[in-house]
Amino acid sequence: YAKKNGRNQFAFYFDELNIGTNRGLLIDHELRRAIKNKEFVLHYQPKIDLTTNTIIGFEALVRWYNETLGFVPPNDFIPYAEEVGLIIPLSEVIIEKACLGWLALERAGYGHIPIAINISSIHFHQPNFIESIQEILQRNNCSPRNFEIELTERTVMNNEKETIRRLIQLKQLGFKLSIDDFGTGYSSLSYLVQFPLNHLKIDRSFIQLIGSVNEKQAVVDAIIQMAHRLHMKVIAEGVEQKEQVELLRNMGCDMIQGYYYSKPLPLEEAIDYVEFWKLEIEGK
Ligand code: C2E
Ligand code: MG
Ligand code: MG
Ligand code: MG
Repeated sequence: YAKKNGRNQFAFYFDELNIGTNRGLLIDHELRRAIKNKEFVLHYQPKIDLTTNTIIGFEALVRWYNETLGFVPPNDFIPYAEEVGLIIPLSEVIIEKACLGWLALERAGYGHIPIAINISSIHFHQPNFIESIQEILQRNNCSPRNFEIELTERTVMNNEKETIRRLIQLKQLGFKLSIDDFGTGYSSLSYLVQFPLNHLKIDRSFIQLIGSVNEKQAVVDAIIQMAHRLHMKVIAEGVEQKEQVELLRNMGCDMIQGYYYSKPLPLEEAIDYVEFWKLEIEGK
C-alpha cells in the first residue's frame, strides 16, 4: 500500500503500513472494529452563499479517533479502507451518521440546509450503490432532497455511459450533485457538462494562491466564467483569507467554503453556528 496524499504529518500510520507486521495488523484490526462499532464522528463545514449571505449547506467530513492509534486523518484511512475492501461498510456508516446529522439539524429548525456526503469512487461504482444509499436514507426517515453527493473528477471519468445513467438517476431521486476537487483530475468542463451537476468545487490548491500568483487567479476566473455559461454554480474550497473572499466575489464565485468562515465543526457546534449566523444577519 502506497501513501496517496503526502501532506499529512500523521500519514506514517499508513505510509509504511507493513501489512503483515504487528502494526499493520493492529491498524487493520482497529479499522474493522471501528466500522463494526460505528466509532466514527462526522464534522460539518458550512458553505456560504455570497449572493444571499446565507449558509446553503454543510459538508460532512469523517473523523476517527481511536484509543490505541489516536486521531487518524481521513486522507489516511479512507484510501486504506479502499485498498483493503472496507470502504463500502465504512461509507454506509458515514451515510447513516449524515442522516442522523440532518435529523438533528431539522429538529433544531434548520432542515432546509442540505448535508453533502463525500462518496468514494469504489462505492459509487458498486452495482447496488443507488439502492444502498436509498435504503439507508429510508431506514432513517430521510429524503434525498436534503442531501448532496460529492464526487471527485476521477470518479466520473471512467465508465462514461453507466456514470451518466447513474448521475441522472440520483438527480431524479432528488439528490444534489457536485464535483469535488475540480482542477486536480484530468477532465475538462466541456466533458463535465454532460452530467447533471449542481455545483463545481474548485480545489483548494487553486484558491490558496489566488492572491499572489496571477496565473492561478486567471485560471480560477476562467473556471468560474465557463462553469456559469454551462449553468453550474461554483464553490471555492479552502478559503482562508478575507482577501480571497473579496477576489472570489469580484470574479462572480457563488459560494465559499473554508476556514475563513469555519472549520468543520462537531454537530452541536454546527447547529450553534447556524444560530449564530442567523443572529448576525438579523442584527445587521
Ligand atoms: P474534501 O472532500 O475535498 O474535503 C475538504 C478538506 O479540506 C477537508 O479535509 C477539510 O477539513 C479541509 N479544509 C476545508 N477548508 C479548509 C481551509 O480553509 N484550509 C485548509 N487547509 N483545509 C481546509 P479533511 O476533513 O481532512 O478531509 C480530507 C479528504 O478526505 C476530503 O477532501 C475527502 O476526499 C476525504 N474525506 C473526508 N471525509 C470523507 C467521508 O466521509 N467519505 C469519503 N469517502 N471521503 C472523505
Ligand atoms: Mg468534499
Ligand atoms: Mg475537495
Ligand atoms: Mg480533497
